[in-house]
Amino acid sequence: MDSCGICPSGSRRSPAFSLMVTSSSSSTSAIPEILRGEGLPVFEAITPEAVSSHIPELMAQLNDELGALEQQLDHSFSSGTALSWSAVMEPLQRLGERLRWSWGVVSHLNGVCNSPELREAHAAQQAAVVQFGNRAGQSQLIYRALEQLQAHQDQLDPAQQRILAAELRDMQLRGVGLSGADQEAFNAASQELAELSTRFGNQVLDATNGWTLRLSERADVDGLPASLLDQLAQASRQAGDAEATAENGPWLLGLDMPRFAPFLKYSRRRDLREQVYRAHVSRASGKDGSELNNWPLIERILSLRGEQARRLGYANWAEVSLAAKMADSEAAVEALLEELRAAAYPVAQAELQALADCARRHGAPEADDLQPWDVSFWAEKLRQESFELDSEALRPYFPLPRVLDGLFGLCERLFGITIAASDGEAPVWHPDVRFFRILDNGQPLAGFYLDPYSRPGSKRGGAWMDECLVRSRSADGTPVLPVAYLICNQSPPVGDTPSLMTFEEVETLFHEFGHGLQHMLTTVDRPQAAGINGVEWDAVELPSQFMENWCYDRATLMGMARHWQSGEPLPEQEYRKLLAARTFMGGAATLRQVHFALVDLRLHSQWQPGCGQTPEQLRREIAADTTVLAPIDDDAFLCSFGHIFAGGYAAGYYSYKWAEVLSADAFSAFEEVGLENEEKIRNTGRRFRDTVLSLGGSLDPKEVFEAFRGRQPSSDALIRHSGLVAV
Ligand SMILES: [Zn+2]
Repeated sequence: MDSCGICPSGSRRSPAFSLMVTSSSSSTSAIPEILRGEGLPVFEAITPEAVSSHIPELMAQLNDELGALEQQLDHSFSSGTALSWSAVMEPLQRLGERLRWSWGVVSHLNGVCNSPELREAHAAQQAAVVQFGNRAGQSQLIYRALEQLQAHQDQLDPAQQRILAAELRDMQLRGVGLSGADQEAFNAASQELAELSTRFGNQVLDATNGWTLRLSERADVDGLPASLLDQLAQASRQAGDAEATAENGPWLLGLDMPRFAPFLKYSRRRDLREQVYRAHVSRASGKDGSELNNWPLIERILSLRGEQARRLGYANWAEVSLAAKMADSEAAVEALLEELRAAAYPVAQAELQALADCARRHGAPEADDLQPWDVSFWAEKLRQESFELDSEALRPYFPLPRVLDGLFGLCERLFGITIAASDGEAPVWHPDVRFFRILDNGQPLAGFYLDPYSRPGSKRGGAWMDECLVRSRSADGTPVLPVAYLICNQSPPVGDTPSLMTFEEVETLFHEFGHGLQHMLTTVDRPQAAGINGVEWDAVELPSQFMENWCYDRATLMGMARHWQSGEPLPEQEYRKLLAARTFMGGAATLRQVHFALVDLRLHSQWQPGCGQTPEQLRREIAADTTVLAPIDDDAFLCSFGHIFAGGYAAGYYSYKWAEVLSADAFSAFEEVGLENEEKIRNTGRRFRDTVLSLGGSLDPKEVFEAFRGRQPSSDALIRHSGLVAV
């Protein structure tokens, strides 16, 4: 491949940036693009064929080199040679980076330019990639080498010490420190846990898909919006009712979120709401003798995790989870959750009362006996009556180009950086993708791709930030500047109409950009601790949620929200509605998260076989003061709590709220100096950049936070932002 769409003159780039970009134009090199391992990828060369033919080659090389490194280490051990950082950590990092670069770009394309061929090629190589990670992560020789480095850690700088500690901890949690029968038992239990998680998830999926309700009378769909009728009719057609239409039915209801959630919200048929609600909360609980029963799996998973924790030297699985997080202890998490619970509980009670009052005004018989299947319905009614916020009607005020101007202007104001469109200077994977550079006093600092529009069929849904290049220094000492992928899924422009965003999409863009800022504004040169690397899981959403707060800041929002045709600013009353919508039913929402987080935490710390309680009894005990409507008898929520039984959130669900406390408290530093006080806002912004955005994983997140805020985090701001204090 030749220069591949990169600006050929090079004159607009300063040396450091061009180093990074031009390295992709090595036309004479015999190395296939997919194995280049550095510089901006030439995406069009990363084909399914390239994946199939060259990834196995890469994996073989990496495995050989890992073997050679292990041999060298072994030799050092037997000859008694002291090991240095550069003899252990650097070669390991280089091996990891080659895999990250190549496999990262394949995974990236799999997400944004999917095709059956690429998916197949990706899937075929995945096992080898995972295997390599396991091999490196469980290597006894590497573990011994890291231990040796740690014994002399006084020779390392603080960032190196943290990188090393994290590496050792991760290896320990994989069981590398065990031996003999203990290790065998540990590995067998890990294997069983992986299978149980998969089975748990599959049973939730099967139970969700196995329930349908065919509605054939017009009266059955009373209240449903056109978009939902469309969906239900489409589901009918897929199930064989070829004649089904949105107008005349039949309509097929199911338990998946896109059908279930709006049905509860809009259906005027209370009996049907109850029926579908009961089916939903009892999924995979073996009710009515169904084989899909996750209860035994839950007890087995919790028991095994408890045993694994004890093998690793911890009292329970919650301790294992917290070993790698910012939260110090279970007590610290409990304390935070209690603060939120105490603030949210009376508000949630008042909200429930307001829903009952609303039902009474409408003469609904359930006003005196609201049940869980009534909550969404009356909340939606009350929301419409209180502030008729029509999210579709706001779109014309948020054309993408203006939103980008607003976002970039905000970053310039807060962090003193300049963001410049640099389309054409880097190869892209789709013509809609844009490339930008971040400059600091005219000097290149970072770059990012923005892929804003949805492309059904070839692009994964949702939004994310991913690393293209991580800040580091190449072997000769020249800086490698970070580059991010920012991916959204909003509606594309149509004709002369630009992409018009919903307010939610604006928030999403700001959120992902916050992750991107931490990746791009890092000043750490060691890639293992640069940007988001090495940042504890419960702290990593700090910058992203922090940026979302600015969407509600008057100056930021009103500065960018202008009608794309008339140029009119967003009407004041619409701004007020947005503020009101932010905290609507905020007590119930907070309480719900607290309930899930506490259940998760205590199941992984207090529960064990023979403790005299079933997991469900423990959950109901917690529900007594974390729900304002007690779970109904059929409610077997644990049987579908995939986050903790089929995903990676075990004893970590609290992280959502933990990070929100950090981000709200960080934003409140700006509120304190006065959002109108330009000079102080700029100073506070610079301090945020020099701490949270710069230091990445090089320092303990508590120290990073304190460096910015001057104290440890407090939940006051989150409680206030969630509307949980009387004003
Ligand atoms: Zn995020």
